[in-house]
Amino acid sequence: MSSPKRVFVPSVTEENGNTIGLGVFSSEETAWNVLRRFLRKSHLMALKRSDVVIWDVDIVGEDGMTVLSSMHCRDCPVCARRTFWIDLDTFSAMCTGVACEAWIEDSTIEPGKIDLGWPPTRFLKRVEDVEDALRELKNLGAELQAAGNTPSEPSHGF
Ligand SMILES: [Zn+2]
Repeated sequence: MSSPKRVFVPSVTEENGNTIGLGVFSSEETAWNVLRRFLRKSHLMALKRSDVVIWDVDIVGEDGMTVLSSMHCRDCPVCARRTFWIDLDTFSAMCTGVACEAWIEDSTIEPGKIDLGWPPTRFLKRVEDVEDALRELKNLGAELQAAGNTPSEPSHGF
């Protein structure tokens, strides 16, 4: 069995600065799957960031390490739970909250623009920048709240 030349290491950091390693994986895909699965529990924990780091095996020091992705946890503009994960490098974001999954992404159709959406109502919109995208999602959250349909209470017939 050949050992991998590089490994993928997902981790999360709690509000108190404590870092939780989620394992060491030989494929990027597995590392992401493990991290995403873990982030679904975001609402049960006080998390502030997550990282996926690539380590080249047998390289001494910092040269062996590449940060693939860092995400920060914020309050979701739609459901208001602390489950909204933002990648500040790519400006993509997604809520990991149950019954929400609001998202923001660079538009693949119109480069330079930002797409956003909210799966429960198939809400989709394209805007100029991230500020606009966050504002749109916040408006959506306010409308839902006014209508008594907050996704933070999925038991109320949402
Ligand atoms: Zn949300």
